[in-house]
Amino acid sequence: MQPKTELSHTTLPAKRYLAAPGATRATSLFVDGTWRDAVDGAVRTVVNPYDGSDLAVVSEASAVDVASAVAAARSAFDDGDWARRPTSERGRILHHIADTLQRDREEIAVMESLDTGKTVEEGRIDVDDVTAVFRYYAGLADKDAGRVVSAPEGVHSRVVYEPVGVCAMITPWNYPLLQLSWKMAPAIAAGATMVIKPSEITPVTTCKLVELAVEAGVPSGVVNLVLGAGADVGLAMVESPDVDLVSFTGGLATGRRIMASAAKTVKKVALELGGKNPNIIFPDVDLDTAVDYALNAAFFHSGQVCSAGARLIVHEDIHDAFVDELARRADAITIGCGQAEGVRSGPLVSAEHRAKVEAAVARGVEEGARIIAGGSRPDDPDLADGYFFRPTVFVDCDRSMDVVRTEVFGPVVTVERFRTEEEAVELGNDTDYGLSGAVWTNDTGRGDRVAARLRHGTVWINDYGPYFPGAEWGGFKRSGVGRELGPAGLDEYREAKHIYRNLDPRPQRWFG
Ligand code: NAD
Repeated sequence: MQPKTELSHTTLPAKRYLAAPGATRATSLFVDGTWRDAVDGAVRTVVNPYDGSDLAVVSEASAVDVASAVAAARSAFDDGDWARRPTSERGRILHHIADTLQRDREEIAVMESLDTGKTVEEGRIDVDDVTAVFRYYAGLADKDAGRVVSAPEGVHSRVVYEPVGVCAMITPWNYPLLQLSWKMAPAIAAGATMVIKPSEITPVTTCKLVELAVEAGVPSGVVNLVLGAGADVGLAMVESPDVDLVSFTGGLATGRRIMASAAKTVKKVALELGGKNPNIIFPDVDLDTAVDYALNAAFFHSGQVCSAGARLIVHEDIHDAFVDELARRADAITIGCGQAEGVRSGPLVSAEHRAKVEAAVARGVEEGARIIAGGSRPDDPDLADGYFFRPTVFVDCDRSMDVVRTEVFGPVVTVERFRTEEEAVELGNDTDYGLSGAVWTNDTGRGDRVAARLRHGTVWINDYGPYFPGAEWGGFKRSGVGRELGPAGLDEYREAKHIYRNLDPRPQRWFG
């Protein structure tokens, strides 16, 4: 049992954009260089998922606020000098943001923990990862001005890169700071302008990151922030004719809606959607190590990770020993308050989300899958007010089951068996998604063969989860459109333009 940590608004570093719980006024929209209230004065209370208490009050934007934010971004792009400033200056701003992220590391890690429920240690990892992303794009900002293209004599042909324009950035609640950094850092490097909307459930660290961008010297109108619900605030951003690109990270159903809405104005769309990621275990591995990584893959951040290893595919020779050990260790995971010492896993983000996870688990049971760990809320009375769900392991699963095919986005892992390499690959690819996957084997050739055949954007061999700012991230199939991170992540925010110069124009006489 854990000591119940008392949290209050004073635990949150008081910032001008966060009002205390119960307040009727908040000044947390950032438009054209100014923090301000929503035009109609609307606010939303943000809840701490650990105990359901009120954490902060933020402004709730309307379509009118979205219009002013888009107008500010449009004007900064069309009329300002941001897009034409030296790339080295944008790189300096990105380094400055990275410096201040590290300066305020502890404060941000606690904020992210309070807002999302994740542990403070996970929050620290996020801040370090985000810092690395800003540094990576700081380094890339002035490295690639374009290229000269092979052309006939008398012609000079070159391709240059220009910023894409005004970007709408819409992010999810599981990694608010991290997912924003994958968009914001390359957009700043490219010279684009932006309107940002975090998930209405977890807006706190996004406000903080905008504040750091301002401190770093981003000019007025380049970075704008609106807060509010997806169905109206997000939709208004997507439908605005003055937005050139929508970069969205979130669920498949929302991604579909955004693609359809964006079609009306034929704007560019970059989508990072969900996953149902296979984690394939061959029998020649060290069982202790493979189980250890499988636990992390499935239950880190309570499984609320797009790349979670939620679908274990285990060779039949080791299946029984593997699942026994997995269940034993899953039951031993310490869940509790993200700010408490020794806790390895926090609550789910909201009551609504836990209800969805519970419905998915009930469906799994109806389909014939068998629970060998978890499957219910914890019975610790100290956790009764929070949105907790125990790490859950399902066995006797097969690929036809909904619980195996649909992203649960919670602490739930299913286990299937396989016999041959061919069957493992077939199972690993039998999904509508294609975000990530892993293969565990000590046979190097087999590891490479399976990795080559898996239709997923990232494949780990004998590991699970690491990513690098320099390596592209994104989905095959319904896991998304486009790539974040790496050079391709910068290209999302740039237009390639071909400039052709005839060095010696003479009459061609085509028409005589
Ligand atoms: P969600 O789709 O419900 O919401 C994401 C964002 O979209 C929120 O800001 C929300 O307000 C907004 N939104 C909702 N409806 C909208 C609409 N009609 N128009 C515009 N915006 C709208 O997703 P979520 O529940 O916040 O996040 C979980 C999902 O995100 C999971 O499916 C997860 O796999 C995915 N995800 C993917 C990645 C990746 O890298 N591929 C990373 C993190 C999360």
